[in-house]
Amino acid sequence: MKYPVVAIFCVLLSWWAPAVSASTSHDSIKAARTVVLSEQEKRFIQQHPIITLGSGSSFDPFVIQNKDGSYSGHDVDIANLVAARTGLTIKFETAKWQDIQAKALNRKLDGLTSAQMTEERAVSFNATTPYLSLTSLVLVKQGNPEGITSKRDIAGKKVAMQKGNLLFEGILKQLDSDVEVIYYDTIHELISAVVAGSVDLCILDETAPYLANQLGLSRYIEVAFPVGAPFELAYLLRNDRPELTRIFNKGLASIREEERLEIRDFWFRPDEPPLDYVFIAKLSGAMSLLLCGLLAWGYSLRKSKNETEQALRLLEARDKELEAKNSLLERLSVTDHLTRLYNRSRLDEVLQAEIQKAERYQTGFAVIMIDIDLFKQVNDSYGHPAGDQVLIEFSTLLQNHCRKVDTLGRWGGEEFLLICPNADQKGAVALAENLRTIIEQHRFSVIETRTASFGVTAYEHHDSSHAIIDRADHALYQAKEQGRNRTVLNAWNQDKTTPKMRK
Ligand code: GH3
Ligand code: MG
Ligand code: MG
Repeated sequence: MKYPVVAIFCVLLSWWAPAVSASTSHDSIKAARTVVLSEQEKRFIQQHPIITLGSGSSFDPFVIQNKDGSYSGHDVDIANLVAARTGLTIKFETAKWQDIQAKALNRKLDGLTSAQMTEERAVSFNATTPYLSLTSLVLVKQGNPEGITSKRDIAGKKVAMQKGNLLFEGILKQLDSDVEVIYYDTIHELISAVVAGSVDLCILDETAPYLANQLGLSRYIEVAFPVGAPFELAYLLRNDRPELTRIFNKGLASIREEERLEIRDFWFRPDEPPLDYVFIAKLSGAMSLLLCGLLAWGYSLRKSKNETEQALRLLEARDKELEAKNSLLERLSVTDHLTRLYNRSRLDEVLQAEIQKAERYQTGFAVIMIDIDLFKQVNDSYGHPAGDQVLIEFSTLLQNHCRKVDTLGRWGGEEFLLICPNADQKGAVALAENLRTIIEQHRFSVIETRTASFGVTAYEHHDSSHAIIDRADHALYQAKEQGRNRTVLNAWNQDKTTPKMRK
């Protein structure tokens, strides 16, 4: 899932990258290309170090007066290149176009910028070589609702024109169409009229997109078609100082075509390009894709989390099951399957543990060996299953009446062993007698009554399990010998000859 997300970011980056690099290109025009001046021209510059050019105050984007009083714009950039390469210092001054022309005619300025040569102006000015060629454009409302694509479509349409703009007036004449002309004062008004639908079209030049953008309207107009021959702009310089025009021309000639284009692009391109709907569609597509990818990623993460949690729960359950089975197995391994008492191997373990405890802590314990009397008869008379039932009942009886701390187990056949921690001979005999009496008095389900014989012995110092069992067994044998249903204590150390008998 990681890779689609990275890929989408790469696509987005590749779309943004060209837009970012393009916006800085104008700054790259710094290369100094000095021009070769004659001695006379050099002298002229020494004598007239500062040249001032005049421009109308609303000559955007040719000459723009900034808030700090400095000037920028297309013609200013061109003039600055001329200045840098010739050694002239060129300044700008703006005022109402009529006033600035008058000032230039009176030689209070060295020339005019963004102007075309006319017969009248030729009396006082020389034109430099043109520095800019512009095409006139027919502009219509975005979407071109009237379907205007050539001069044939103009007939009968409403055309917005700027009052006194001889250039565009001339172009309209060239179109030779029967149109309704509506006059406005400023170029901004022409654009607004087209956007508002008050007119069908207007005629402007290539600076129209820049100007429309200043109004925030660049998205609402479009170029229908170019019209007329391109027209050229030059600096008009006072003709009483011909060296100035020669120096200017040398400077203008040093400007490379790509430099001109870069300056032109910078000033004529709207700051904010019209909305690129294809790009926006692509971008929203990519964003949706990204969102879908992230959602799918989240979903798959949640799914894996749930699956992992489920697997963990299953594992835990299996673990518990296994634990239960293990403990069951462990229990079964120490349990006699018929009576559910401990088996012989468990009795051996407990006996060993008791011996160790007695040795370490100097305590004592006793064992009681119990054997059902004449049990064979039960099997013989009632059958083996009935015998089993008696064994079970007998076990329960013993279990219910021995102490909680005692360990009762089946030693084998119809024999049982009771290990009594912390019991001495006396206590063990008392317990055995108690059990014997309970058994004697018990009514078994199948056989009515049955008795049992008890062999008792207590732990002696340095006793072995074998010796203890041997003594208990011997006492039990004695009990049988003496007529059964009795308790015999085997206390070798106190009385080495015969075990003590009880009945
Ligand atoms: P005594 O009083 O001398 O102990 O006589 P007894 O009949 O109890 O002793 P004997 O050793 O002669 O017989 C023991 C009988 O116990 C023999 C055997 O068939 C029976 N027995 C041993 N284990 C089981 C068992 O698991 N189930 C049944 N039903 N009988 C068993
Ligand atoms: Mg026996
Ligand atoms: Mg027996």
